[in-house]
Amino acid sequence: MALIVQKYGGTSVGDPDRIKSVAARIVAAAESGQQVCVVVSAMGQTTDQLVDMAAQISPAPYARELDMLLSAGERISMALLSMAIIELGREAISFTGSQAGIVTDTTHGKARIVEVRARRVIEALEAGKIVIVAGFQGVSTALDVTTLGRGGSDTTAVALAAALKADACEIYTDVSGVYTADPRIVPEATKLHAVTYEEMLELSASGAKVLMLRSVEYARNYGVTIHVRSSFTDEKGTWIKKEDERMEQAIISGIAHDTSEAKVTVLGVPDRPGVAARVFRPLADEGVNVDMIVQNASSDGRTDIFFTLPKEDLRRAEPILQKVSSEVGAEGVSTDPDIAKVSLVGAGMKTHPGVAASMFDALADAGINIEIISTSSIRVSCVVRASEVAKAVQVIHDKFELSTAAIRREMHPVTATGEFEALKDAP
Ligand code: ASP
Ligand code: MG
Repeated sequence: MALIVQKYGGTSVGDPDRIKSVAARIVAAAESGQQVCVVVSAMGQTTDQLVDMAAQISPAPYARELDMLLSAGERISMALLSMAIIELGREAISFTGSQAGIVTDTTHGKARIVEVRARRVIEALEAGKIVIVAGFQGVSTALDVTTLGRGGSDTTAVALAAALKADACEIYTDVSGVYTADPRIVPEATKLHAVTYEEMLELSASGAKVLMLRSVEYARNYGVTIHVRSSFTDEKGTWIKKEDERMEQAIISGIAHDTSEAKVTVLGVPDRPGVAARVFRPLADEGVNVDMIVQNASSDGRTDIFFTLPKEDLRRAEPILQKVSSEVGAEGVSTDPDIAKVSLVGAGMKTHPGVAASMFDALADAGINIEIISTSSIRVSCVVRASEVAKAVQVIHDKFELSTAAIRREMHPVTATGEFEALKDAP
């Protein structure tokens, strides 16, 4: 019997009526003869509301108790969804992350799954029940409730799909898949039919919100093919899967943008061994995730270092930076929150020269100044003024004719297991 893992995001279970229609969709999947394991997020804005409430009690809530609080959101939706399914005449049972055997490390607030002990889930499925698991949470090796970081239900779903060796992992959300760019910025953005793990990792890390970065990492490590699709329609969504040569032919997959980071400049840093380590070590020790580090060639024995970091970490980073700046004898530190990052991602970049040059051409023609550039083998990212990011995304999308490039990729449909249909008959 086929086994399917479905994950429903917060909007999809936002109110009782939506929970009822999700229940109907789940029951339909079960009636078609599949075992169904469902992962749910908290209803609507529940997690944000719980975070706000904690902030009213404490400016820096105790991490263990914050996890205890936040895990309650998914308990509400799992129980309601289970009731709705039972109401439709099917047997269902809900489990917390802990009951479902999601074992994590002890890092509260961004715990990593270290093991899935799915015995209870498997037994319930084998007894013919629909299983509902609370996403975003687990139990640590020290037996405390943990959460996996915002968006973590995606990771719960992928981890369960891997542990249960599911035939499919469907992530239901409020958009119908992964697009060539944010459709709110680029109306002609097109839904991508298939994206490689590597591309999706770059897109998620560059600001695309559709899947949590960690879930994509997990899917790649365990070879789980993900199908991202809308819970409001029946249309097919986007497959996240292993690369094959047909995906490389469509050079670019999409554009992500990110306005959540700030730029830091450390000016006039003495050019001698160990200085970069002295700047970045204390930030790393504070858990600040820096990105896009650029250092100038030195002149007169001094150099400038630029990098970006999450705006939410800026307050924590500033005193550290002031301190190291004077310790290493730099000329000063400045921070700038009004920046944005625009990233172009595509597996075909590895084999097609000139992609970066065309991206810079598009920005130049639009009169947009590039402040920092960084690249990987399948990504080019530019820091621009935040006020210009929408225009930047649009002109790059136009330059690479992404609405038609996505359609070219779509000409090679994938089957339910994520294999390309066309490849099955390939010589
Ligand atoms: N409810 C959690 C959040 O809002 C986890 C999730 O939705 O995936 O981040
Ligand atoms: Mg999400």
